[in-house]
Amino acid sequence: MDMLIGGKHISSEDLAGVINPYDGETIDTVPIAHRQTADLAIFEANNAKHSLQEMSAFKVSNKLFEVCDKLKENRKDFAHLLTMEVGKPIRESLVELDRSIETLKLAAEEAKRIYGESVPLDAGLNGKGFFAFTQKVPLGVVAAITPFNYPLNLTIHKIAPAIACKNTVIVKPPTEAPLTVMKFCELLDDEFPDGVVNTITGYGSEVGDYLVTSQDVNKISFTGSVTTGLMISQKAGMKKVTLELGGNDPMVVLKDADIDKAVTGVINGAFLNAGQVCMGVKRIIVEEDIADEFSQRLVDKTKKLVMGNPLNSETTLGTLINEKAAMQVEQTVNNAVNAGAKILAGGIRDGAFYEATVIDNVKADMDLVVNETFGPVAPIIRVDSVDEAIEVANDTEYGLQAGVFTNDYANAMRCANEIEAGTVFVNKQSTFRTDNMPFGGFKNSGVGKEGIKYAVDEMTKTKLIGLNLR
Ligand code: NAD
Repeated sequence: MDMLIGGKHISSEDLAGVINPYDGETIDTVPIAHRQTADLAIFEANNAKHSLQEMSAFKVSNKLFEVCDKLKENRKDFAHLLTMEVGKPIRESLVELDRSIETLKLAAEEAKRIYGESVPLDAGLNGKGFFAFTQKVPLGVVAAITPFNYPLNLTIHKIAPAIACKNTVIVKPPTEAPLTVMKFCELLDDEFPDGVVNTITGYGSEVGDYLVTSQDVNKISFTGSVTTGLMISQKAGMKKVTLELGGNDPMVVLKDADIDKAVTGVINGAFLNAGQVCMGVKRIIVEEDIADEFSQRLVDKTKKLVMGNPLNSETTLGTLINEKAAMQVEQTVNNAVNAGAKILAGGIRDGAFYEATVIDNVKADMDLVVNETFGPVAPIIRVDSVDEAIEVANDTEYGLQAGVFTNDYANAMRCANEIEAGTVFVNKQSTFRTDNMPFGGFKNSGVGKEGIKYAVDEMTKTKLIGLNLR
């Protein structure tokens, strides 16, 4: 598939294959662009600013609704392509499509609500006699750099609010799974003037870095790993930056919890998308009194998952993004076992597949739970008290989301107040998000918020206009 720059299809001499992780077949190729092409994309995005900003909010909103309708019409084709390039079960791809449609709809609605406020300057010294108000002004060109695990919805979380507030966009999709995003950008391009949305493929370290350091890009909206995020924050200079980074989300299960509800939370939280979810359940912190019963029920339910061809509708566990990623997970689990942890279910790799794995007797200082393990693994850490549970939950450099299972409201509120994370859910796992909620982590999990209304704040600048009526 070609890139789309200034409304034109652009290729390159060098091409990269996009590989289906299930069967190793090449689905398509995309160009490996270099700096000159990134320059062209920056030029076209700047060139298109005027035509987008001339459009009324009414028109921008309607056009976003039209793109939304087209995505809905093509929902199944998009989901099929998504499963082919990511290896996630088709049922999960369809959910990603539904969320993408919802995210676009939220942005189309929000496009009509981008306004400032009147400011009482007379509340300040010498401010009497002024009438002042703010406006939310577009930033200019937004670069959206996105990861492989939810490529479509996470990219729409950037493109849609950016356009809703009249910024033009350059999208750098994930190297492993660029196709769904590129196909979506073609739908957008059909509705908006040329250059409003542009795509560029190639190495993150080359074209991504070029966008990050360019003086002619006004904002970097990045979702991906902490390592890349830190590099971007050091190089971006004065431009605005939003960083949605990795997670190591705890699930605290206290002794009075509804065990079945918590077990379902792990199944939906640790194994979704083969565990490749930023807000996935990565550490299960269980009070000792119920740990045996909890782990037994978890093992029973884990064994019911169906691993297989991601295009089959019964499949609930697909592949990881590639074999290398699966091998990394295998190695991390094996290291934990060598250090004393015990596998209760799973633990076997087959190519890019890794079985849903429950692992007990995990200690808080094992690599498996110190770093973000991006695979279908449910590590159980046993604790003796609520105090210890909170201490372990916070003993991490990450702080994306968290879940607490208990029926004791005092303990629930204590955990909610004391766990350092951008979101804490009570009786729900961390792996839950609605597309309108403020989403973004504390600590190394990131800077800034997404969720359409919140992303709009991060994609505009506030200008004050004051009239001296004295
Ligand atoms: P990654 O950081 O390797 O890549 C993300 C994107 O950055 C890709 O498009 C890549 O090409 C680009 N990139 C790489 N090097 C770059 C550079 N030097 N400059 C600019 N761009 C560069 O991440 P990944 O492996 O694709 O995704 C997995 C990670 O993303 C996990 O850590 C996961 O937790 C995180 N993630 C976070 C969220 C969130 O919302 N917080 C959501 C999904 C995934």
